[in-house]
Amino acid sequence: MQYRIIPVTPFQQNCTLLVCEKTKRAAVVDPGGDIEQILAVAAKAGATLEKILVTHGHIDHAGGVAALAERLSLPIEGPQREDQFWIDGMPQQSKMFGFPDVRAFTPDRWLEQGDVVCFGAVSLEVLHCPGHTPGHVVFFHRPSRLALVGDVLFAGSIGRTDFPRGDLDTLLASIRERLWPLGDDVAFIPGHGPMSTFGDERASNPYCGD
Ligand SMILES: [Zn+2]
Repeated sequence: MQYRIIPVTPFQQNCTLLVCEKTKRAAVVDPGGDIEQILAVAAKAGATLEKILVTHGHIDHAGGVAALAERLSLPIEGPQREDQFWIDGMPQQSKMFGFPDVRAFTPDRWLEQGDVVCFGAVSLEVLHCPGHTPGHVVFFHRPSRLALVGDVLFAGSIGRTDFPRGDLDTLLASIRERLWPLGDDVAFIPGHGPMSTFGDERASNPYCGD
């Protein structure tokens, strides 16, 4: 599996294009906006978009989901259903942050802990990691030791927990009980900023390190 990170929206959210090397079929994780840019990266990679995956319902991650899904008739998988209130509130989030063309949507599939999502010949494991939002999910590609963690964990920081239904203890439990057991060698793409590994964060992250 190959990946391309595409920072989108004024929040520079790390939308990620995942491409199955065997089939050239692809999934877009968290298309928060800037759809033309995402489509251009996919075209340049010679990839055919098959699916949209969503980590959580915040506008910088999910603001472009409805428009992209409609345009290419793509199915939407994720997040976990506790984030429905965020997705339903997309028009209000849009007004608050001044995002254009943002609509609510209904995922074709809500995800749960232990689910598997597939595109091309690739399978990703789903981890339910609440705390930043109650329905936040993480995607893990075990063969390449790569996780897409959204706003759960960042290089040197963790997700905010001051939004409605955010909770710090829950977030720390998600990180320690769901992410760390995957292994110190796992590299992760966070929702914002540079990549890191779980091992590096366990060693030096001031919020959730050992
Ligand atoms: Zn968020």
